[in-house]
Amino acid sequence: MSWCSKCKAEYIDGVTRCGDCDVELIDEKSETEEDIVNKPVDWALLKNFSESETYVIETLLKEEGIPVLKRRRGVGGYLKVSAGMSIFGVDLYVPSEELNRAKELLEKK
Ligand SMILES: [Zn+2]
Repeated sequence: MSWCSKCKAEYIDGVTRCGDCDVELIDEKSETEEDIVNKPVDWALLKNFSESETYVIETLLKEEGIPVLKRRRGVGGYLKVSAGMSIFGVDLYVPSEELNRAKELLEKK
């Protein structure tokens, strides 16, 4: 999956330019969770969410341009693979400078 850095539209593999903006698409794989972790960002714990909440919150924050880092608790990461969900929930982190904005967004929801 590739996406346009300008309009954020997602494209299927094989498409290299956004038809609307005429800009190079970014390969989603180019920014893995590992890359995000390795960036010099001061991550602050936002809250622990359930699996289903996590998707909603993550989408909400990303729409606002706030990067999100997910960390599953305990053996949750392993359970996720076998059972499709985690009983431990997911810790969501945002850059500390975005923490207040992220919290405000959650309150508005
Ligand atoms: Zn575009």
